[in-house]
Amino acid sequence: METKNLKLTGKLFLIVGPSGVGKGTVIALLKGKHPEFEYPISVTTRDPRPGEKDGVVYHFVTRKKFEEMIKDKDLLEYAIVHNKEYYGTLKKPIIKALEKGKIVIREVDMQGCESILKVFPKENLVSIFLTVPNKQDLIDRILKRGKLPEEEIKRRMQSAEKEFAKGGRICDYQVPSLTGKVNECVKDVERIINGESPSGKAPPSGGGTGGSNPSSPTN
Ligand code: 5GP
Repeated sequence: METKNLKLTGKLFLIVGPSGVGKGTVIALLKGKHPEFEYPISVTTRDPRPGEKDGVVYHFVTRKKFEEMIKDKDLLEYAIVHNKEYYGTLKKPIIKALEKGKIVIREVDMQGCESILKVFPKENLVSIFLTVPNKQDLIDRILKRGKLPEEEIKRRMQSAEKEFAKGGRICDYQVPSLTGKVNECVKDVERIINGESPSGKAPPSGGGTGGSNPSSPTN
């Protein structure tokens, strides 16, 4: 990505981790506590789930439209996730927000994280890997979302294996996302944002309870 002529003063925080680890929940809670951050939408070819609205987390598009967006270089990165559907990060809203000095939060899968790490200015990027102590926790959480075909669970677990292998190695921070402790996980993420925020000031917090261990930088 050409960034020479851009004055990026904000920071992009990537929330990474396998399906079921709680990325969506953590980001939804951050959104409630920190409306001052930017939460850009991504594009995907997957169908919306019941209750999911276009334009909140994703813009739902056809394969044809997605491939046009690739050709038009609208995407910062894109990937086929769980060997199935396209997901892609929109370039424009992120660049615009970073030019304004904003803190930008976006979840991506590990492939997306690796692609962004390769092309994005390091000083404007922080990657946070959410992790769980055991696989069964992930399966339970994925199952809780609603009935998924056996094949789909298998596919998600295969992606998870790959993500665990890489996450700790390539991401800047690892944060435990323990079952029933989502507020602690959010607090850990807030602490990282606080420490990494360009102004060096703590972002205002909307409260929350419970202490947790400090998150660990992985490098
Ligand atoms: P879901 O379909 O459950 O919302 O997301 C499936 C996976 O796609 C999750 O691991 C999520 O992090 C990932 N994902 C969501 N948005 C993007 C994106 O813009 N780019 C990439 N590479 N992955 C994404």
